[in-house]
Amino acid sequence: MAPRCSWMWRLPRCPLLGRNLSTTRRLGAGRSLSSKSPTPQICVVGSGPAGFYTAQHLLKHHSEAIVDIYEKLPVPFGLVRFGVAPDHPEVKNVINTFTQTARSERCNFLGNVTVGRDVTVEELQRAYHAIVLSYGAEDKKELGIPGEKLPGVYSARDFVGWYNGLPDNRYLSPDLSSETAVILGQGNVALDIARMLLSPLELLEKTDVAQPALEALSQSRVKKVWLVGRRGPLQVAFTIKELREMINLPGTRPIYDPSDFQGLGDILKDLPRPRKRLTELLVKSALEEPGEKEAVRRAQCTREWGLRFFRSPIAVLPSEDGKRASGVRLSVTRLEGSGESAVSVPTGETEDMPCGLIFSSIGYRSVPISPGVPFLPRQGIIPNSMGRVLGAPAGLYCSGWVKRGPTGVITTTMTDSFDTAQSLLEDLKSGALNLSNSRPGASAIRELLLLRGVDPVSFSDWEKIDAVETAQGLKVGKPREKILNTEEMLQLVSR
Ligand code: FAD
Ligand code: NAP
Repeated sequence: MAPRCSWMWRLPRCPLLGRNLSTTRRLGAGRSLSSKSPTPQICVVGSGPAGFYTAQHLLKHHSEAIVDIYEKLPVPFGLVRFGVAPDHPEVKNVINTFTQTARSERCNFLGNVTVGRDVTVEELQRAYHAIVLSYGAEDKKELGIPGEKLPGVYSARDFVGWYNGLPDNRYLSPDLSSETAVILGQGNVALDIARMLLSPLELLEKTDVAQPALEALSQSRVKKVWLVGRRGPLQVAFTIKELREMINLPGTRPIYDPSDFQGLGDILKDLPRPRKRLTELLVKSALEEPGEKEAVRRAQCTREWGLRFFRSPIAVLPSEDGKRASGVRLSVTRLEGSGESAVSVPTGETEDMPCGLIFSSIGYRSVPISPGVPFLPRQGIIPNSMGRVLGAPAGLYCSGWVKRGPTGVITTTMTDSFDTAQSLLEDLKSGALNLSNSRPGASAIRELLLLRGVDPVSFSDWEKIDAVETAQGLKVGKPREKILNTEEMLQLVSR
């Protein structure tokens, strides 16, 4: 990292600009650093749902605050762009609301800036009155079992990134020549992957799936997908809408072991409501004879998927030459305790499942952003109370997956981001957040980035990229054809 600019913090004059920072673009609209009550300068790190919902709430409920959003990629929206499955376009409609927020004259988007590398959190702390860390959970959880790194084993995070056009994953090129795939984990991401592997191509062709993924999936030989859970049918992590979609996926049939579901009908009435409805659907689908039409449909299917319960992975088995995965060894488990909190314990029995394609879909993981920001490695979160970072000076907040861990849908993330924004607004009001000194905000950080050779991408730059992607998509009947590498994105907006 280039040496720090000592001038930056001796405001209001910036020798690089040769003028008073209060006259720079962001502060131009009648907001003077010398005014009695300085404009709150706030920045948000990360432009996923947490970043955008935090910014939205702050801008809506404070008539002066300026909110700058820093994003490491040249393109915004986090997992809405790089996580949500291509065949769920309706979920991506939140982008419209985020776009409204970004277009506010009190909001700046600074893409292509990695906080912790291009600019430090400490530098942001000196330039802003408050920082909200909303940088998600970008890493994957690891199984920590022998053979996990063998070719043929993919993390859900990488596979999802690959089919969604995440630049880092564009060379993944998974080997889809195996007829059987095993997905370890029974969450909604596991179901996304199963659907992507088994969906008829004509459904995927109309989505914004990355082109290399579409081509690879068109050559895929995968016919059967197992979703393996270490606990039982009452503990699956996926939700009812996604299960129903899987059960009805054209060209595929579910395979069940009826013994997994025996007796569950009797306890349904005692289950909490969402779990009750989900279990009802599982039991119905597994134990009831399908109607005539459904029976005909299932008989015609060439692809299938199944749920394997009470199996915990203990090793990925190598092929004879040791060069790739050829199966997975599972420990048969039983439950101790009941309900959501039941834990799986090994019975001592094991079972081998032959397959050449394995996905580890056991969840995502946040990483620390700076040695100066408290982080709980076991939980993978920033310690906080209502979004206020604990053990840090006032003015540091967090929202989204880095605040509460890598679970929850976009609406859950919205609620917790509004809570964090509310804490920040209360601190502004109560004086807990010190506004006595003016802060330069983005203008100072831009100067610093310039010195370091980093050229931030603005929201209107993103709109140029967006226009090119949608125009390319239109030609092939897709909502967009994603650009897959950052260099090409940056070329499109180079000045
Ligand atoms: P993210 O969306 O991950 O955003 C974090 C942002 O921070 C990213 O843009 C990242 O690039 C940026 N960033 C990271 N590090 C830095 C840094 N150092 N400097 C600057 N920027 C940084 N929910 C639904 O409601 N419906 C769905 O269909 C759905 N599908 C999903 C599919 C998958 C595969 C996954 C993993 C999740 C899905 N979710 C879905 C859940 C939803 O995506 C999350 O609730 C939500 O994205 C969490 O928001 P976030 O902003 O905390 O994290
Ligand atoms: P998740 O919901 O937490 O599911 C993780 C799965 O992995 C669980 O079945 C879990 O089993 C299992 N697991 C964890 N550690 C394991 C281990 N060491 N060995 C074996 N199994 C292990 O995570 P996710 O699927 O990554 O989804 C993340 C969040 O995004 C969820 O909240 C999800 O709802 C959301 N999402 C939503 C959608 C949608 O709305 N359509 C789509 C995708 C994702 P245990 O329960 O036994 O721990």
